[in-house]
Amino acid sequence: MPNGGASLATEAVEAAAHAFAGWSRRTVKDRAAILRKWFDLIIPNRQDLARILTSEQGKPIAEALGEIDYAAAYIEFYAEEAKRVAGELLPSHRADARIMVLRQPIGVVAAITPWNFPAAMITRKVAPALAAGCTVVVKPAPETPLTALALAELARRAGFPPGTINVITGDAIAIGGVLTSHPKVRMVGFTGSTEVGKILMRQASSTVKKVALELGGNAPFIVFDDADIDAAVEGAIASKFRNMGQTCVCTNRIYAQSGIHDAFVEKLAGRVAELRVGDGFEDGIQQGPLINQEAVAKVEAHIADALDRGARIVVGGRRHAKGRTFFEPTVIVGATAEMAVAREETFGPLAPVFRFNSDDDVIAAANDTETGLAAYFFSTNVARIFKVMEQLEYGMVGINTGVMSTELAPFGGIKESGNSGEGSSHGILEFTELKYACVGGL
Ligand code: ADP
Repeated sequence: MPNGGASLATEAVEAAAHAFAGWSRRTVKDRAAILRKWFDLIIPNRQDLARILTSEQGKPIAEALGEIDYAAAYIEFYAEEAKRVAGELLPSHRADARIMVLRQPIGVVAAITPWNFPAAMITRKVAPALAAGCTVVVKPAPETPLTALALAELARRAGFPPGTINVITGDAIAIGGVLTSHPKVRMVGFTGSTEVGKILMRQASSTVKKVALELGGNAPFIVFDDADIDAAVEGAIASKFRNMGQTCVCTNRIYAQSGIHDAFVEKLAGRVAELRVGDGFEDGIQQGPLINQEAVAKVEAHIADALDRGARIVVGGRRHAKGRTFFEPTVIVGATAEMAVAREETFGPLAPVFRFNSDDDVIAAANDTETGLAAYFFSTNVARIFKVMEQLEYGMVGINTGVMSTELAPFGGIKESGNSGEGSSHGILEFTELKYACVGGL
């Protein structure tokens, strides 16, 4: 990959700014047609894209195919949605004037994205931005640039004009410095760690850019006594072990109510023990390697800290016999609020189970974190479902399901998990700004 820095970033911003004039003035139908063409090129190439993705990221090929389809779905959706961004004519305060409200594209958008979803985190920002009439500069994660460049090549073939989509690789700090300070960048969209999100927000303040952040989570997963246990176990597997636990919406803390705790743990441990770990290209593999050695060290540290404070391993607990960055899918019981697993996102295949008694206690425990991205709970009691759903301080709540991401819904967090919503008709509005025009003298 090119090892770009500040000058490459400046060149990319200027190319995007130059392209903005033409792209933003195209009709929405034109923009929609090119986006749709991009989607139509991705689908027949999904096998190749998934192979690139698994090669550089490690997730099993079935998950990689799922991600390519999910990534493409944002392009399909926003190709359609481009046509529905409308202004307003509001009732006027004066007989001789009219109030018009225009929704215009915000301008050049910088997108800085992580390695855990090398395709979807890009399309989720780039597709609505382009649909709204913005141009983009993308800086993918250094771990996964190839998926980003393959998508960009398909975009080129789809007919996006030069400068509309720019992908640059290299020194994150130097590139990030330009993307958050160049006056021609009007918005910075970032998905990644809370720590880096805060740095970018600070840097972007000097030129008052819009900043849209999707940051870390610490998702609680609550199983109430009245839950369907089998469904809860499947939900826990899906939400905890997807991408080997390396997603921001992955379950981090499992709370099981006393009445079902033991039965739930036994079934969960049985299912976790069956998860097949290995090369993501082999048939039937459900867990690939972790992204790097630091990721493995963090899982080990969380396990060691929990054991020191009284937790017990039910299944897994060690580096996998395959070596390198493979790790055994792990379940521990006896987790408590003092442990690192309660406070920090593990971002790996560790499922700690906490025991609880009352609804109020578990809601307080679930909310006792500075983050607020995804939460999950399982219950069959309608009154409880509404109460818990309303009281959880999270941007997204999965009820009787461990998987909820879709381009049709707004994905986003509250508190320190972020300030934006990607997906749905709301997602495109993030890339627009309102202009009030008062037409007088009528
Ligand atoms: P993760 O822990 O998932 O790798 P990071 O927040 O470190 O999350 O990285 C997410 C993205 O942010 C990556 O593209 C990375 O290169 C980029 N990044 C990291 N540090 C900076 C920075 N100081 N300025 C701009 N981008 C950065």
